[in-house]
Amino acid sequence: MAKIFYDQDVNWEVIKDKTVAIIGYGSQGHAHALNLKESGLNVVVGLYNGSKSKAVAESKGLKVLPVGEATAAADIIMILIPDEKQADVYKNEIAPNLTAGKALAFAHGFNIHFQQIIPPADVDVFMVAPKGPGHLVRRTFTQGGGVPDVFAVYQDATGHAFELALAYARGIGGTRSGCIQTTFREETETDLFGEQAVLCGGVCSLIKNGFETLVAAGYQPEIAYFECFHEMKLIVDLMYEGGMAKMRKSISNTAEYGDYVSGPRVVAEPSRKAMEQVLKEIQDGTFANKFLTDNKVGWPNFYAMRKLNAEHQIEEVGGKLRGMMSWLKDGADLSKD
Ligand code: NDP
Ligand code: MG
Ligand code: MG
Repeated sequence: MAKIFYDQDVNWEVIKDKTVAIIGYGSQGHAHALNLKESGLNVVVGLYNGSKSKAVAESKGLKVLPVGEATAAADIIMILIPDEKQADVYKNEIAPNLTAGKALAFAHGFNIHFQQIIPPADVDVFMVAPKGPGHLVRRTFTQGGGVPDVFAVYQDATGHAFELALAYARGIGGTRSGCIQTTFREETETDLFGEQAVLCGGVCSLIKNGFETLVAAGYQPEIAYFECFHEMKLIVDLMYEGGMAKMRKSISNTAEYGDYVSGPRVVAEPSRKAMEQVLKEIQDGTFANKFLTDNKVGWPNFYAMRKLNAEHQIEEVGGKLRGMMSWLKDGADLSKD
């Protein structure tokens, strides 16, 4: 079983006089920067010239510098820009300002694990990855709580990298609810697998297939939307709160019986085999290579797939039906929480 670390396990001394540069002010960036500042650390934000995020960060009283200058001014440099942009920004702006004894930090192991970024041996390298989106990292912190983190040390040049990572996690609120130690490899591979096979890829495919099956059988798309898409949240909320058992307590016996007899037929051995293949392609670097290559040539595949999915009938029907539900704040910018 994993060892879990809490506030009382943290040596705050190792971080309390440090300056932290948060590179990027998006989903994770805004949450880390504001939480660390309110935890008493000196925070600077690193952005590029013309960045839309600059004014937003400054409106919160944060000092914004070009990435190179932010790196030079800081002891800990946390890289929170999109994964596919990190290697170039690291090479051109961070590496030249990364002197011995500083710490390079990440919220996802991708670039270190797939060797897109190879840091010098004389810096600490750690990861603190919140297990939730940035707006939740921020909101829970302001309410006195925190989103659990996983953390890892890739390189310990100073002898303090482990303590530093845990202290950073405390600064963003992670150790209030608990931090689990992992490795860059484990975090990267499991994170990619989870989002591809289950959370994003798996769930969207399941919903679309259910919707298409009903529509092809002649049922109204609006009804198919409610049955296969809209109610997903209600079910997932129950599982999130109290496990599958709580969900099964809340649904009818008819639904629970159907769950047991039909679920394992729908997601069965072929899906398990496909999951194993997805995992293999994550482990051997095939996925990372495809993703980075598509990015290098301007995302032709990414944009084509995005367009195809956006034009799916389920999105059109869903947009119309969500308009009927006044309590849904579609388009609300959650990152501004
Ligand atoms: P975002 O896409 O939200 O980051 C966008 C930010 O990066 C914006 O402020 C943007 O500025 C800035 N930016 C873009 N390019 C540059 C550049 N060249 N130089 C400086 N700043 C730049 O990222 P996320 O928060 O989603 O992800 C950050 C990291 O956190 C990733 O490693 C990700 O895997 C990880 N992570 C993300 C989670 C999430 O909830 N999103 C959860 C856990 C980990 P502008 O807007 O002005 O262009
Ligand atoms: Mg994840
Ligand atoms: Mg991820």
